Amino acid sequence: MKTLKDIEIDGKRVFIRCDFNVPKDEFGNITDDRRIRAALNTIRYCIDRECKIILASHYERPEPGKYEDKYSLKPVAKRLHTLLKIKNEVFMANDVVGEDAKEKASKLQPGDILLLENLRYEAGETNNDDTFAEKLAEFADIYVNDAFGACHRKHASIYAITKYFDKDSKCAGFLMSKEVNFFSKVLENPVRPFVAVVGGSKVSGKLQALTNLMNKVDKIIIGGGMAFTFLKAHGHEVGNSLVEDDLLEEANNIILKAKKQGVKFYLPVDVVAAPEFSENTTVKFLPIQEIPKDWMGLDIGPATTRLFREALNDAQTIMWNGPMGVYEMDRYSKGSMAMSNNIAQTHATTIVGGGDTADVVQRAGDAEEMTFISTGGGASLKLIEGAKLPGLEALEN
Ligand code: AMP
Repeated sequence: MKTLKDIEIDGKRVFIRCDFNVPKDEFGNITDDRRIRAALNTIRYCIDRECKIILASHYERPEPGKYEDKYSLKPVAKRLHTLLKIKNEVFMANDVVGEDAKEKASKLQPGDILLLENLRYEAGETNNDDTFAEKLAEFADIYVNDAFGACHRKHASIYAITKYFDKDSKCAGFLMSKEVNFFSKVLENPVRPFVAVVGGSKVSGKLQALTNLMNKVDKIIIGGGMAFTFLKAHGHEVGNSLVEDDLLEEANNIILKAKKQGVKFYLPVDVVAAPEFSENTTVKFLPIQEIPKDWMGLDIGPATTRLFREALNDAQTIMWNGPMGVYEMDRYSKGSMAMSNNIAQTHATTIVGGGDTADVVQRAGDAEEMTFISTGGGASLKLIEGAKLPGLEALEN
């Protein structure tokens, strides 16, 4: 993969596709700017080389054509300015490829930065539209993709745009290459024992990842809602817990495959159960065998936390994707918090993927202890599945 260091960019107009899809609160304040900070290395490198810098990103899912303020990237421009600690302002366009963006781009001086408005204000972005992509390409001489979190999508600023740049004028940014190299290195050549911890809501979303991991890891630990499909497949009564009945056979196949390949497979042995999906209700710590018919498991229990900690003890590499319970509610967050603490305390190389999981690690105060926290949930899952990322393919073509 070509990165910025491999191409000549001095003084040129550089278009950097970033992933600035950061969470904001109800007042529009950015609550977690990790994704913006992650883009700084690439941006600074271009500033130092006197480039005229055009930044572009999507933000959430606005209705195309409707410029609603709540989807604007304006707060990102301000935060970027603060984080970069530069004198000049980060210029903000009022549109994506319209008159305002064009005029502001034409006035950029070496080292200046212009952030385009939310790419998804334009229908052409998600449609991977050539005409829109060409308009974006006209802003620059060099195309840089540093949007790891978006490069599993065939969108115009990720995919179609690359055909307007020859092979010496397009490359990956530093964040992108760091993310991809880290995952590839660990998946191809892990120091063993290699343990995968997989949680989150459903088996369906992570089926392919589980299947691929099976060929690479020594142990698989399953928590979160998806554990109940495996437990039911094992013949347990799981009450009203989240279950995908159409995947029971698939779940059984995964367990059998693990056995055949000598991969140790761990499921919860107890849960935090409640009669409804709410915090304001009775909760009980129950062994899996004792979940009442009309109750549901919303977090792993204390015995499971201990079991999983034992299983992690000898790990040299740990990959974690998906929370152990409904961590958004305090009462069901302990399993995920403890998992974060336990992983952080090992001496293993630890890789965390997925927005929710990164959020858990942050809340648990363990972010500094992890070796690597990926900025892209869907994209990192695709890499674990062994799939090719459209954004990377497009750079190679
Ligand atoms: P995913 O997007 O598949 O990684 O799932 C993350 C979501 O799974 C989080 O929003 C959690 O609240 C949810 N989750 C975790 N454990 C459970 C559970 N036992 N029951 C229902 N949802 C869960």
